[in-house]
Amino acid sequence: MASRRKFVAGNWKMNGSLAANGELLGGLLSQLAGFDGADVAVCAPALYLAQVGELVKGSKIAVGAQNASEYASGAYTGEVSCAMLKEFGVRYVIVGHSERRALFGESNAQVAAKFAAVLAGGLVPILCVGETLAEREAGATESVVAGQLDAVLALGADKLGAGVVAYEPVWAIGTGKTASTEQAQAVHAFIRARVAKSNAQVAAKLQILYGGSVKAANAQALFACADIDGGLVGGASLQVQEFAAICKAAA
Ligand code: PEP
Repeated sequence: MASRRKFVAGNWKMNGSLAANGELLGGLLSQLAGFDGADVAVCAPALYLAQVGELVKGSKIAVGAQNASEYASGAYTGEVSCAMLKEFGVRYVIVGHSERRALFGESNAQVAAKFAAVLAGGLVPILCVGETLAEREAGATESVVAGQLDAVLALGADKLGAGVVAYEPVWAIGTGKTASTEQAQAVHAFIRARVAKSNAQVAAKLQILYGGSVKAANAQALFACADIDGGLVGGASLQVQEFAAICKAAA
């Protein structure tokens, strides 16, 4: 089995303020001083990326954005391009988060276009996939995840392999309901096997994160699963002790 470095990314969503971000990052930098057991990133609201970049400069904490435009520039009012993100030291961009798919109508095709734009911009996309509760109950988990994955795999397995995948069952996001380790591992193994059908080497190296109510109390068990390579963490990433403990659980 390929050894894959673990990765923990925080998704702050639309939370924070100049003061709160300073306090959160100050705490994290001190809790994670000298920590090199896993890759760590925080994905902040676009307006705070410059502040976050300054605060984490010289540390091992990377900066991520939560979204980016699929277009390079032009008449796209309200959008932020990958080149702009890059200028501010951003390394990762979340694409296709379930909130963007559900609330902002992002289709599989648009998510794939964003994934391609992020790569073309020299950044690392974190592709979110995952089923709703109704889809799980209808036995459609694999077909939904496959559809979301295949839209990006169609760009080429090597392209997918230049990014990170996050399996985030929608019913577990922000609900306090975490997928069991068996449920999560089963979908992670399914994702890896599907990628392996296109390119076994890419599949073996691909970091697949789990997201959905990850907290310090459940992180270690999830991260111990064979195909779970870390976490995409929402709510708990806003709490210094919790997020630092999750990062340490990945080491
Ligand atoms: C997320 O927003 O990607 C997420 C997983 O949120 P939470 O950890 O709060 O469930």
